Amino acid sequence: MSNIGVLIEMDGQEIKASNYGVLTAACSGGNAVALVFTENGEAIKNDLERFGAGKIVTMSATNPVQKAKLMAAVVKEFNLRALLGLSSARGRDLLARCACILDAPLALDAIQIDLADGMVVKSHFSGKTTAIIQLSGDTLHVGLRPNVIEAVEKPVSAELIPFTAETGDSDGLKILEVKKGGTGTIDLTEAEIIITGGRPMDSAENFKILHACAKVLPGAVGASRAAVDAGFAPHSMQVGQTGKTVSPKLYIGCGLSGSVQHFAGMKTSRVIVGINTDKDAPIFGKCDYGIVGDLFEVVPALTEVLNKNR
Ligand SMILES: Cc1cc2nc3c(=O)[nH]c(=O)nc-3n(C[C@H](O)[C@H](O)[C@H](O)COP(=O)(O)OP(=O)(O)OC[C@H]3O[C@@H](n4cnc5c(N)ncnc54)[C@H](O)[C@@H]3O)c2cc1C
Repeated sequence: MSNIGVLIEMDGQEIKASNYGVLTAACSGGNAVALVFTENGEAIKNDLERFGAGKIVTMSATNPVQKAKLMAAVVKEFNLRALLGLSSARGRDLLARCACILDAPLALDAIQIDLADGMVVKSHFSGKTTAIIQLSGDTLHVGLRPNVIEAVEKPVSAELIPFTAETGDSDGLKILEVKKGGTGTIDLTEAEIIITGGRPMDSAENFKILHACAKVLPGAVGASRAAVDAGFAPHSMQVGQTGKTVSPKLYIGCGLSGSVQHFAGMKTSRVIVGINTDKDAPIFGKCDYGIVGDLFEVVPALTEVLNKNR
């Protein structure tokens, strides 16, 4: 069986939960080898073993140029047939750098993968079409949209392998500062439930009703571009073509018309609920469940019911 690498993303000292679906994808095509930038492999060993990582390669680097060089060295050392990761901001950056070093094929924002045939399905043209792409080359580099593959436990006993390699200089790249965005709640791209507000939110203050609901769900709060452009929410909360791409189990759109550009970022959500005062709003033609009503009445009522049934 081939070795399939998985670039594991950390959130502080913890593994991002969306990595486990990527490990499941790797296990479907061979022996999963986890690549992790961490000083403390022991702390994450159990979690990675639970989802089938038979080898855990730990590395240390802070600079993306040096990280990519280490990843490329791991690909060669462990003869990886493919290197998978999350199609997150970090994943897209590192997978692309590594593919470039190895002159290997790269597909990002994949929503399905078949490692046996080297085929991926990816969303194209703002989600209006999907493309089936046949990759050929020595090591397929694929970034998967977070949460598109359900994580399945496959317990194994893992070998922890600290790895170093000569990375040379960092090609003139120096990180001066890292600024953390975010809303202070659950990371949007990681969340299993998202509640999003559109233009009719009308103020940043009104987003409080979505945060209150998100707290009981529990979930993360998103915003449409109209709400972001109006200054009601920061860009880090924007979902869509020019915002974040998300794939939660449940997406609740409050006061969203259902634009193509918004759907480009969330149409792979498993269940979509639309709340809109206009029964003819386009969102009702695209969601699984629709509630015709005023979000300022429906959302607090939902929060109350959820609180009662907690
Ligand atoms: C190149 C490009 C990229 C873009 N990228 C993005 C993107 O990443 N993300 C994104 O979201 N948009 C994006 N857009 C903008 C997109 O085209 C839409 O303009 C935007 O999504 C509309 O936001 P909205 O649904 O919040 O507002 P609207 O289209 O104004 O819809 C508001 C809806 O709320 C309903 N409503 C009104 N009051 C209430 C109430 N009290 N309760 C319930 N419902 C109510 C109305 O009936 C209406 O259907 C992009 C556009 C372009 C051209």
